[in-house]
Amino acid sequence: MTSYGAYSALADLNAPFTPPSPAAWADMELLEAQRTLAQIRRRTDAAAAVLAAEIKHRSRPELGYTGLAARLGARTAENLIQQTTGISKHEAHALTRVGTLLTNESTPWLGAVGDSVTAGESSVAEADVIRAGLGTPDDTVTEAVLAHAAAQLLAEAPDLTVERLAARARELRSELDLDNVAEREEMMRSRRYLHISPQADGMTRVSGLLDPESAATIVAAFDAATSPRRGGPRFVSDDGKARAQRIVDDPRTTDQLMLDTFVDLVRIATLADDGTVLGSTQPTVHILVTKRELDLDRGAGHLEGQKDPVSLHTVRRNACSAGTIPILFDGRQPLDVGRAHRYFSPRQKVAIAARDGGCIFPGCERPPSWTETHHTDEWQYGGKTNIRDGVLLCRHHHMLTHNNKWRVIRKDNRYYLVPPRSIDPDQTPIPAQSRGIAARKLIG
Ligand SMILES: [Zn+2]
Ligand SMILES: [Zn+2]
Repeated sequence: MTSYGAYSALADLNAPFTPPSPAAWADMELLEAQRTLAQIRRRTDAAAAVLAAEIKHRSRPELGYTGLAARLGARTAENLIQQTTGISKHEAHALTRVGTLLTNESTPWLGAVGDSVTAGESSVAEADVIRAGLGTPDDTVTEAVLAHAAAQLLAEAPDLTVERLAARARELRSELDLDNVAEREEMMRSRRYLHISPQADGMTRVSGLLDPESAATIVAAFDAATSPRRGGPRFVSDDGKARAQRIVDDPRTTDQLMLDTFVDLVRIATLADDGTVLGSTQPTVHILVTKRELDLDRGAGHLEGQKDPVSLHTVRRNACSAGTIPILFDGRQPLDVGRAHRYFSPRQKVAIAARDGGCIFPGCERPPSWTETHHTDEWQYGGKTNIRDGVLLCRHHHMLTHNNKWRVIRKDNRYYLVPPRSIDPDQTPIPAQSRGIAARKLIG
């Protein structure tokens, strides 16, 4: 028992209130009393939160002017709570949010957090930062995953300040998101499609859905072709400015220009010689990633213009065929841009194309012009690039190699595909196909 024995008097609003006089208390007593008051406060806050949620419910928008807050002239339930209690706007919102969490089922993954508030173990502020930091479930960070994370945070909470707890909750969420970058990327990729449907009136409708990486490629090409109609690069050269002006003056609507660009892109692609390995110019897609993340093999890359991160598999696959450009940062400022590191020169690609004759994946018929050059050895910084280390893979099979852990190995100057364990537990190498005329002539 501490020297402050008047806790029960706190709630007796008819009796005059006397604050304690702790000057003569021992240190331990002082802290014990502070702890007890915090506990009482957590209980009153839990009760206040439930009431706040009820005020919010009675003021819900669909009630219009008959809602509680509106009837009393307050703009929102939170305003009314502020007026009634004298707490800050931020506190009123937190109280309402946590109250809602305690009383309804809309956030079942935070059930344990609600229970902890009700039991007087967690404060409203703690519950609110856990709620905000963890965010809402999605396709990969499920309710169960968030419930697990919430339990972990509740366990850590007693040793953390509210500020630290808030940071910890945000950290945990981004870790969960990071763990799921590859899964989410694959999930989005599986949703991709393009429909080409002839209509009764003779027109043909095109509709589709692009995953972020496909979108990055296509958006960059369209931006370049229709700039400045749809944003895109700003031109500084006179030539560029004149061209941009011609596009602005073009009598076609932006949508018509988009369609014509689409047709032109397809036409140019079909005119390209099948035997040519494209991609000797600058890549149109940029992916940013830190060296640290690549070194640790943990993290994600960011496609320019796309908000979803991409997995390190995707980063490595793009680097594998397009090369890398190191950018050195000093704090927030780029300090230096290194020389582009391309793994295969255009001349090397011609030689590889002559040898492979197209995608080397068994049964694949994509010609060299449809392929990317893949490094047979695991991609490394500054790895030396020899013709015998490169093989042609179409985009689909290149993706399969990096994202689904197929490997291309070289044995006695022949190439083999090693399936992942999930496909072949013995991982028996499958001979790669070679359709190159030169190779056939030479090897027979
Ligand atoms: Zn590759
Ligand atoms: Zn292929």
